[in-house]
Amino acid sequence: MKKENISKKILFWYDNNRRILPWRKFKSKKNKNYYTLVSEFMLQQTQVRTVIPYFENFIKKIPNFKKLSNINDEQLMKCWQGLGYYSRARNLKKTAKKIFSNFKGKLPNNLEDLKSLPGIGDYTANAILAIAFNKPVIPLDGNIERVLKRLFYLKKENEISKNNLNKKKSFFGFSKRSDDYAQAIMEIGATICKPISPLCDKCPLQKNCISFKKNDFKIKPKNKFNKIKYFEAKIYNSNDKYLLIKNNKFNFLRNLLIFPMNEVKKDQFKSSIDKKINIKMSNMDMKIILNKNNRNKKIKGDFMLDKYNINKIILPSFTKKIFKTISKH
Ligand code: SF4
Repeated sequence: MKKENISKKILFWYDNNRRILPWRKFKSKKNKNYYTLVSEFMLQQTQVRTVIPYFENFIKKIPNFKKLSNINDEQLMKCWQGLGYYSRARNLKKTAKKIFSNFKGKLPNNLEDLKSLPGIGDYTANAILAIAFNKPVIPLDGNIERVLKRLFYLKKENEISKNNLNKKKSFFGFSKRSDDYAQAIMEIGATICKPISPLCDKCPLQKNCISFKKNDFKIKPKNKFNKIKYFEAKIYNSNDKYLLIKNNKFNFLRNLLIFPMNEVKKDQFKSSIDKKINIKMSNMDMKIILNKNNRNKKIKGDFMLDKYNINKIILPSFTKKIFKTISKH
């Protein structure tokens, strides 16, 4: 089938099925650039339905690049609180600042300059080029990868390599509506070619799909395992208040309030511990021992947490989870 017919089919499907998403409701070109940048940062490692309310609130409070570049960190974190991966928020602000210092207040429209901005890697730069600037590129996200793997029935290690998947993207060709086209293909992956039980009867690519013909939709999983790491959290408790400290020790949750913690070896997981908790964080499975201590020391920059101020301060959900676990015991 000719490439233009593929793009016509996909765009016809998109025009009739696209989701109404807040970052698609921009009123001007400037707006579109800002909405694209913020949504792409938020969508890194987070699902669309989780991002929607955060995006709406963020745009209300921080409506443009100027405001973002001048926002104080506390207000910024308040808008991001609960979304996780807080380095994204810090990078977003740094990016806004750099847009003013290096690019005269305008989001750059080429790959090299975009990738020079904090928090923007290859995928995000390509997504911005396609969506904000209508450039003829198709970013390779997890959704598009899955569509390609099924379309071409790719199972072997060399077939599912990034390199090969990037080559296979040529199947889609290009469209003058590059902004819609990139989003349309991602949307087919997200809403039709789902990881489990794809909705092939609704798919505009059914006739082109080898997996459909073979009735085999299994996807070869990525050969990627989360690292298991072990920690001890020290729970200093006094009058129902718990000691937290500002984290300037670990690379995750940097500058946010956490319980005092150390990384430990697997064999330091002792039987005398009070409680264990497992938390997934970026590419790490954290196994944390929670050991209660009586408070007997003062730590610089500390903060006393109790159940009355837990919702009033900016806390990562990581700390809230540990607090909930210990306050049950
Ligand atoms: S036909 Fe089914 S498996 Fe093939 S791309 Fe469409 S939804 Fe995915």
